[in-house]
Amino acid sequence: MENQRYPISKTLDEYVHTLKKHAYSDIEDNNVNIEWGKTQAYAVVIWSHGNPTLIRCNRSVRRWPEPALLGLLAHELSHIALGADSHNEHQTDRDVISRGLGPYLGIERVFTNKYSDHVIQKGRDRYLGYDSIRLSLTNHEINQLDALMADIGVSPRRMLKESLLHDYAFHEKENSSHIVIDGQLYPLDKKPNVDEIKLIVKDSSVQILSEDMVIGENENGRPRY
Ligand SMILES: [Zn+2]
Repeated sequence: MENQRYPISKTLDEYVHTLKKHAYSDIEDNNVNIEWGKTQAYAVVIWSHGNPTLIRCNRSVRRWPEPALLGLLAHELSHIALGADSHNEHQTDRDVISRGLGPYLGIERVFTNKYSDHVIQKGRDRYLGYDSIRLSLTNHEINQLDALMADIGVSPRRMLKESLLHDYAFHEKENSSHIVIDGQLYPLDKKPNVDEIKLIVKDSSVQILSEDMVIGENENGRPRY
């Protein structure tokens, strides 16, 4: 979706810098690298032993308006603030809201086609949808969100159905690696290159392949429309 009103006008580094300065001062000293790239989710966080944490954003996000991108980046920065061992999406969304960035997260959910909560982990976890994010905002934030929605001029119900995952994490430790999708942890035998991991997204499941071997399957992690 092209958007003229709030085009993405800065580099990803600049957005991360701004977010850190205003809302994530607790991780201001964390070295976070960020790039556009190929990924089978809107974003992936790559924790690699001995290297700075890397956020890779899907190139399709470049067509989003700036507030939606800020919502996505805030969600990923909240993952980093909560730490590599925290895999809870609901807690991550709550963290974004508690930092005053809920309006951006609400806009992001319109662009990731999550109007109601996207339940994962058999109900033990969830990505918050636009509706429940809006309900948890202060009056001032609700006004901000409504103004942004009106300015951007999106009608959420018109959005195309997406088959992309929201985000996932790849952890490369000294002696082991694993991938976390929708809160589910999949250990990896070897030390695969993150670029060689393939995710096959079907209607109601995600298959994870490493070197053409299926290493995991997530049956109920996909949104149902
Ligand atoms: Zn996440």
